[in-house]
Order: sequence, then structure tokens, then C-alpha cells
Amino acid sequence: MKAVLSVKDLNVVFSGFKALSGVNLDVYDGEIVTIIGPNGAGKSTLLDAIVSKSPVASGKVFFNGKDITNRQPYTIARMGIGRKFQNPNVYNELTVFDNILLALKGAHGIFSAITAKLTKAKKGKIYDVLERTGLIDQAFEEVSSLSHGQKQWVEIAMVLAQDPSIVLLDEPTAGMTAEETFATGEIIKSIAKSHSIVVIEHDMEFVKQIAERIVVLHQGAVLAEGSVEEVQSNPKVIEVYLGRETINAAA
Ligand code: ADP
Ligand code: MG
Repeated sequence: MKAVLSVKDLNVVFSGFKALSGVNLDVYDGEIVTIIGPNGAGKSTLLDAIVSKSPVASGKVFFNGKDITNRQPYTIARMGIGRKFQNPNVYNELTVFDNILLALKGAHGIFSAITAKLTKAKKGKIYDVLERTGLIDQAFEEVSSLSHGQKQWVEIAMVLAQDPSIVLLDEPTAGMTAEETFATGEIIKSIAKSHSIVVIEHDMEFVKQIAERIVVLHQGAVLAEGSVEEVQSNPKVIEVYLGRETINAAA
């Protein structure tokens, strides 16, 4: 089987500091890959390098077999890689529906997107995305009135509206309640039926809920890879990451 996304021997350097060293990663169709690792391990940098938000010093990123290394971020987005950043980037004064409308492919600017005649297809697409992210009842509420968790789902919905084949999520449950975190896991599993997903996460309960394959990053390199059980019983992972979590949890 061919990888949808393939990262080969990737190196990212910030003024002499090696943030990523020789990272390899393959993501297959419909797969959920979860990336864990201590703060500063290079998790966000890996997603940044894939979408050219951080420059790749050496190595390659392939999307559906095509070399996209250091291509323009908007080109990469248009090709089908959707990226959600850590902080929600939504229009608070607009309704949920209008936020999704703005994110649709081919929307040019707030004014034209909202005043242009909505085709049946566009409307259907928006409702489909709202359905998938559990926001259908909030469609005509202003985003400002939503909970923190719901705002994160609006942003996931905006990414889906762009029809990506792979979705990259950076700590989607940050700041969420336990209920919102669980609901996010179910949303991600449902999205994975038709998309590949790479998700950075540190809440191990959440990781267990969604994870199929886990990649552990440490000091800019892949430390381990495998199932939840394999990673949790790996002595190197316990040493640099999970052991610390246990200590923190006990403190
Ligand atoms: P993680 O997401 O795993 O917590 P990051 O990828 O954000 O880690 O950061 C990895 C390392 O690279 C950190 O030491 C961070 O300070 C550094 N770093 C990240 N982005 C930049 C940048 N734009 N310029 C300089 N250093 C950066
Ligand atoms: Mg990060």
C-alpha cells in the first residue's frame, strides 16, 4: 500500500538548533497516527515542516507520491493537506455556518463569500461538515457564544470544508473538559473513516481512545513507534516521557 503522506529523513534547523533530525514517517489511507513526546520534542515543528510553515533544511515530504518539500503553504493546503493549529482561528462575530462557508474551497473574502448566492451543493457540504463535528444545533449561533471545546470543533469543521485527504491536528483537546475531550475523540474517529489523520496529543486517556499507531518523538527524533501497548511498555518511552507523566500525576 502506498503512503498518503511520507516524510523522509527530515531535518529542520532553527539558527543552528536541530529541531528535527532524520525523522521518517509514513501515513496510510484512513489511518490515525498519534504523535506524543515531551514538550519541545519537535512535534509541532514536524507538522509545520510538512505544510512549509517551517523550512525543511534537508530531507523530503511526499504527498501521494509527489514531492511537496518547501512548496508554498497555500499550494500544499490546496493539494489536500488540512492543518489545524494550536489556537483556534475563527471569526467570533460570525455564525458557525458562516465560518464554515468562509472556509469552503473557492471562497474569496468575507463579503463575497457571505453575500454570494449559496448553491445547494455548498449548503449541503456545510451541513455535512457540521454534522460530522457535532455542531449542527449551533449552526446559526455566533461563534462567540460557544464553549472553548465547540470553538475547536468549528476549526476542525473549517479544515474539513476544504476537502483535505489528510488532516493534521495539533493538540486538539487543549483546554477542553473531559466530556469535550471524549467527544473530540469520537469526532476524530468518525473523520478517519474518510480521511487520514495525524494528531499531536499528550492526554494519554485520549490517545488510548483514538490511537491506532503511535509515534514517540524525543529531541527531534523518532524514539519509538507502535501500538498503545507497545509504546507504553517501551522502557525508553517510560524513561523520557510516560514515567514523567506518572510522576506528575502522582504529585
Ligand atoms: P513540541 O511541539 O514537541 O512541544 P516544538 O516543535 O514546538 O515542540 O519545538 C521544538 C523545538 O524547536 C523547541 O526547542 C522550540 O523552542 C524550537 N522551535 C520551535 N519553533 C521555533 C522557531 N520558529 N524558531 C526557533 N526555535 C523554534
Ligand atoms: Mg507543540
